[in-house]
Amino acid sequence: METSDAQRREAESRNPEQTAARDSSAQQRSDARVRACVRELKRPGEPLCAYVRDLDRLAEHVGDLVRRLPARTELFYAIKANSEQEVLRALAPVVHGFEVASLGEVEKVREVSADIPILFGGPGKTEAELEGAIRHGVRLIHVESLHELRKLDDLAGRRGAAVSVLLRINLKGPLPQATLAMGGRPTQFGIDESLLPHVMEQLPKLTHIRVEGLHFHSLSNNLDAEQHVKLVDYYCRFAQEWAQRYGYPLRYLNAGGGIGVHYAQLERQFDGALFAGGLASVLEQALPPETTLLFECGRYLTASSGYYAAEVLDVKSNHGRNYVVVRGGTHHFRLPSSWQHSHPFEVLPIDEWPHAYGRPELPPNAPYTVVGQLCTPKDVLASDVSAAENVGVRVGDVLLFRYAGAYGWAISHHDFLSHPHPEHVYLRE
Ligand SMILES: *Cc1c(COP(=O)(O)O)cnc(C)c1O
Repeated sequence: METSDAQRREAESRNPEQTAARDSSAQQRSDARVRACVRELKRPGEPLCAYVRDLDRLAEHVGDLVRRLPARTELFYAIKANSEQEVLRALAPVVHGFEVASLGEVEKVREVSADIPILFGGPGKTEAELEGAIRHGVRLIHVESLHELRKLDDLAGRRGAAVSVLLRINLKGPLPQATLAMGGRPTQFGIDESLLPHVMEQLPKLTHIRVEGLHFHSLSNNLDAEQHVKLVDYYCRFAQEWAQRYGYPLRYLNAGGGIGVHYAQLERQFDGALFAGGLASVLEQALPPETTLLFECGRYLTASSGYYAAEVLDVKSNHGRNYVVVRGGTHHFRLPSSWQHSHPFEVLPIDEWPHAYGRPELPPNAPYTVVGQLCTPKDVLASDVSAAENVGVRVGDVLLFRYAGAYGWAISHHDFLSHPHPEHVYLRE
């Protein structure tokens, strides 16, 4: 298997266009499958609203990335992007493990697998969470401050345990631009690079802590594969220098998540093949052979195989602007409002119209704003857009929001206004 993976990686690095074309045709097959599913879900007299996830496409997409990664690299899934049990079950056989940020997430993972490796990060971990992490056999705890390190040492000491940790570092920067920045600037995350010498001085007193390397998660939604390789290269050089200076083994370097999704131009996604190719030389040049490079990605893994479908309930004009009101809204799908972007969608025309009264519609090319049912002007899914494919939109058609599988349902305020929840459909052959 090693050989065939290596051969495949080499072939892909020689022919990135072919790889991209294969990815995009797989994505198109998934789109078609979901469209057919949504049409089947449509029932007369009942406005449709559903999340549909193509679990086969999910496993294929993530499996492709895992196979492309060089040896000594492990891919974890950051489950906060989408922690639905079906998604975890589909990914468990494909990834090396899961990254979690609370005891609740540890428990969700353990419901799916008793022994899959877990990484546990996030600021402000409580004693109960740290204890739970030890009890559930978490492989590595990412420590966010000196106080947390002392708390964990004390707790481990009382249990007679030794705990493996990575120190999460907030680098000085400057770091590349991305949609969200957790490091390279003031945030609640990680140990300030300038405080690291002080933390290292304290370590010999913390006898129940085993420091196995460093953790970085500095940005989210980076779209540039080449820049992401450079960022990882910087992490590797920093970590290697740290290991040499302080005489610690660098067993793990966790380069975080942050691979992006191009919501504005779906056909221009992060170049996974280029990224994997670039990583191979980083590993060779900037990491000692005993180090395992970890990634913990969320968005890039689950976004593309998730869809949010919402039926058009009304079409109207107000102060010269067109509005399309759908069944659902940001209480199901908060991502566009959280990021202040227009989320990409397509119109699925539904031709049946069983009513005696007229069917409101907008002609092709008429720009409109897509809103939900909430009583707030912030309930906007897309602003002033023209539908793709030059189609109009009618009451009773369905809007299909694509790339909705990460940070969609998971970050939404489901019960605001007490509307019903969407259906959740999982496609699996
Ligand atoms: C959210 C998070 C991730 C995943 O980030 P993505 O941008 O979804 O890849 C990874 N690591 C940590 C510590 C996180 O908080």
